[in-house]
Amino acid sequence: MQNRVISRKDLAGFVDELIKTKAAGEVIGIKAQGNKFNFGPLKGAADLRLDYDVSLLPPKKYFFPQVETVLKYEVGNTPKVEPVVEEKTMCLVGVHPFDIRALQLFDAVYGGNNPDPNYFLKRNNSTIIGVDCLNPIPKSFAASMGTATTKEGFDLMLTDIGGDYFVTVGTNKGDNLIKKHAKSREGTSADQEKRDKVRKDALKKYKVSLNMKPDEIPALLDAMWESGIFKDKAASCFSCGSCVMVCPTCVCFDVQDDMALSLKGGERYRRWDACMLSEFAKVASGENFRNIKNRGSATACTVRASTC
Ligand code: SF4
Ligand code: SF4
Repeated sequence: MQNRVISRKDLAGFVDELIKTKAAGEVIGIKAQGNKFNFGPLKGAADLRLDYDVSLLPPKKYFFPQVETVLKYEVGNTPKVEPVVEEKTMCLVGVHPFDIRALQLFDAVYGGNNPDPNYFLKRNNSTIIGVDCLNPIPKSFAASMGTATTKEGFDLMLTDIGGDYFVTVGTNKGDNLIKKHAKSREGTSADQEKRDKVRKDALKKYKVSLNMKPDEIPALLDAMWESGIFKDKAASCFSCGSCVMVCPTCVCFDVQDDMALSLKGGERYRRWDACMLSEFAKVASGENFRNIKNRGSATACTVRASTC
């Protein structure tokens, strides 16, 4: 597969063509929402804001919706249970590398020996067109975590190299899509050098540094178990859950039954849940396995959640 270069005008034409033909399913893109940015269905390429810094919610919501029915049931003498698995084909345009890496972590958690069909029927049918983040917000720690760029997890990755976009082709699906639906040319080594320079310059804009390697963090956390920092942080946490709800790697959900008023049946759904919410570990008897008076550490994500 050969990387490509596409002009801004032709990129807009490409996106409009995808919207019109639905060649890769429903097109979801990054758009302005007030003075912030968020992913949503695209009506036209003109709405795309590939220069964004961070989205309000990560794109995980398209594969793992906030609320999702997982089965329907009927009760009575011959009870019935029917799984509900929604299949959807989508093309996500403008996903940043750190959100792509987060989706890969999701794949690992929801995959394994017992893959989650509700997640994978959406995820496997979807196309990811990423964009390198050239304007990170000052609080972003993606560079420290090694996730400011990625070599995998996308079908196409766009990098703004000035007048044009360099397109790193990640999969055959991406290759076919751009060749069939867009006017583009083969990328040269000079174009690739431009991409690498743009990425290098963007790395210098990250102001937060953890001063350690990401793989040293688990050992550090183990060693800091009794550290006062967690108590200090927890003291100002009011369990709003914002930080975990906006986290691209938070995978937790709660399962609830909704019985119809007729009492003849109902549906079971799952919805996002999070350890920072006080009822996260509460069970049917009312027992809460955590002492919520001294609830867990507040490791607030201040990148997306502005609460803290
Ligand atoms: S750390 Fe902050 S954002 Fe997270 S639950 Fe507590 S108050 Fe909310
Ligand atoms: S336990 Fe908490 S931090 Fe971990 S994935 Fe669940 S909500 Fe996120």
